[in-house]
Amino acid sequence: MATLRNIPKLPQDRERIVSAAPVEDDSSFELKLRPQRLAEFIGQNKVKENLAVAIEATRSRGEALDHVLLYGPPGLGKTTLANIIANELGVYFQPTAAPLLQIKGDLTAILTNIRDKQVLFVDEAHRLQPALEEILYPALEDYKLDIIIGQGPAARTHTLDIKPFTFIGATTRAGLISAPLRSRFGIVLRLEFYTHEDLRVIVERSAEILGVEVDKPGAMEIASRSRGTPRIANRLLRRVRDYAQVRGAGKIDLPTAQAALQMLEVDRHGFDEVDRKLLLTIIEKYQGGPVGVNTLAAALAEEPDAIEEIYEPFLIQIGFLNRTPRGRVATQLAYEHFGISPNRRQSSLF
Ligand code: ADP
Repeated sequence: MATLRNIPKLPQDRERIVSAAPVEDDSSFELKLRPQRLAEFIGQNKVKENLAVAIEATRSRGEALDHVLLYGPPGLGKTTLANIIANELGVYFQPTAAPLLQIKGDLTAILTNIRDKQVLFVDEAHRLQPALEEILYPALEDYKLDIIIGQGPAARTHTLDIKPFTFIGATTRAGLISAPLRSRFGIVLRLEFYTHEDLRVIVERSAEILGVEVDKPGAMEIASRSRGTPRIANRLLRRVRDYAQVRGAGKIDLPTAQAALQMLEVDRHGFDEVDRKLLLTIIEKYQGGPVGVNTLAAALAEEPDAIEEIYEPFLIQIGFLNRTPRGRVATQLAYEHFGISPNRRQSSLF
C-alpha cells in the first residue's frame, strides 16, 4: 500500500539539492527539526497571528476549530503548521494525503473512526477525487456521514453522526481546489516565501538542534541561497555541516559556507541547473517570451506541473520571471543575471 513517505514525487525533482519537495534523506531530519509549538515557528507572522486568535477562541469555547486551508509552495511549513495546530489545541493529529485516498472506503474508514475534535490533515488536497469530496461535504458541514448499504434497487442510505473534527487541507495549487470544497474552509491562510532574516534564524535554530556551531554570517549565507524555503535551508545546512566536518574545523563560518555551497553548485540565488536552463531557454530560444508553460516544459523535458509548482513560483517571487496571460516572460533582472542585453530581444515587452 502507498504510504505518506512514498507518494510519487514530481519527475526530475528527486536529486535536486535545492528542491522544495522532500528528498530521500529529509524525513528523519524533518521530524527532528520540525517546530512543535506556534512560538517556535519562525516567520509568517500574519498566519501565526490569525491562528493564535482562532485557536484561543476555540479552546475557550471547547469546540472543534473551523476547517483550515493552508496553501503555498512546497517546503514552507504547511505540514508543520497543521501539526502545531493540533498540539496547541491538545488534540489528536492524523495525517494523510489525497493520493492515498483512492476509493470511498478509504475515506469513510477514516471518518467513522474520527476522534473528538481531532485534526485530520490532508496534504495535496487539490488531488482529492470528486466522489470523495461528495462524502466529505456533509462531514465537514454537519459532522454527518452518508453510508450506502447494499447495491442496486435494495441499496439504502444511512446517515451516521461523527465526532466534531477539524479538517486541515494543504495545497500548492489553491486554484485547483474545487469551489464547493473551498467554501467549506472557515480559515484560509496563504504561506509566503521567507525573508533571508527569518531563514537565518531557522538555520541557527536547526544548527543548535543538530549540535553544529554556526556563526551569523555563515547562517546568513545558507539562508540567502535557500530560495525562501525552510526545507531547503535545513537541507543545505546539513550538507554544509558535512563539508565543515571533513574540510574545515567543524564550525560553519562564512568562508566554509561559501566554499561548501560553491562545491554543491548552489549559486547566490539558490539557482541550480534547472533554473538556469529554464530562464536561458526563454531568453535564447523564445526571445524572452512570452512562452506557454507546455511549450516550455517540452523544451526542458520537464513536466508542466513541476514548472508551475516547483520552479517558477520562486523565480516569479524574486522578479526573474513574469506570468502573463500569453505565457512566461523573462524580466530585465533575468537578463542582467546572465549578462545578456535585453536589446537582443525582438518583442517589446519591457
Ligand atoms: P510543507 O508541508 O509546506 O511542504 P513542511 O511543513 O513539511 O512543509 O516543512 C518542511 C520543513 O521545514 C519542516 O520539517 C521544518 O523543519 C521546516 N520548517 C518549515 N517552516 C518552518 C518555520 N516557520 N520555522 C522553522 N522550521 C520550519
